[in-house]
Amino acid sequence: MPRYDLHCHSTHSDGLLTPAAVVARAAERGVDVLALTDHDELSGLAEARDAARNAGVTLICGSELSVTWDGITVHIVALGIDPANATLSEALSGIRSGRSTRARRIGDALADAGIQGAYEGAMRYVTSERLVSRTHFARYLVEAGHAREMKDVFARYLTPGKPGHVAHHWATLSQAVGWIHAAGGQAVIAHPGRYPVGARELRRLLTEFRDTGGDAIEVVSPSHTRAQYGEFATHARILGLRASCGSDWHGPGESAMELGALPDLPAGVVPVWQDW
Ligand code: AMP
Ligand code: MN
Ligand code: MN
Ligand code: MN
Repeated sequence: MPRYDLHCHSTHSDGLLTPAAVVARAAERGVDVLALTDHDELSGLAEARDAARNAGVTLICGSELSVTWDGITVHIVALGIDPANATLSEALSGIRSGRSTRARRIGDALADAGIQGAYEGAMRYVTSERLVSRTHFARYLVEAGHAREMKDVFARYLTPGKPGHVAHHWATLSQAVGWIHAAGGQAVIAHPGRYPVGARELRRLLTEFRDTGGDAIEVVSPSHTRAQYGEFATHARILGLRASCGSDWHGPGESAMELGALPDLPAGVVPVWQDW
């Protein structure tokens, strides 16, 4: 059985390694099929594809699209898209365009909360002038001693209700699925166990995702417990969705799950790669 890892990030969004270095590391860890899924971005895929060819890894061209659904942020992983597709790349450029203004506002909000210089500090961590993310703020806030770990920074400063949080409107669910399909890809709802909703709302989200044409649920993810693997496998079976797995790896020392170190999908699901 080939080893799949269908969700990770590079310096083209909020990861710490270049696309070529991510591919090399995945190859070392025994990954056979890797998807690079930078946030709202396709620009790392050409480099990843060349590196994958040299390393004997199959590269799946991907991205992770930011969506607003019912007031919360939801991520949709695109798998197997054509990186040259104009509809998708223009749409992603639209999603990215609000990020710079939002970053300034996050800096202002943190300044109001007594933390000066966060915007400038975050910008020192940005690795692509096309994309600034909350992750870059989080790295700076850890460096500046405002929290010990990334997850503490998010919990204290960068999530809804916290002083550095700035509400933002991303794409809609149906737009994201439509763009992914237009580019020939499959749409996967990322780490569904992470959204701040109750069981009923989560079912509504997954059902709406399916009804709008979504293809798969990311069942195995470091954001999920083992019990949740089973729960999301059941959701996938009931809704007729396929199942995916991804480490959501961002860099050495920063991620709960190493590239390729993923448990098998639970029995009884149809893998997202069934027809690849
Ligand atoms: P953004 O797209 O700018 O809103 O940033 C979202 C990114 O922040 C995610 O892709 C994660 O990489 C990171 N993130 C969100 N929540 C957490 C958390 N609790 N701990 C660590 N990283 C997080
Ligand atoms: Mn990220
Ligand atoms: Mn995500
Ligand atoms: Mn991710």
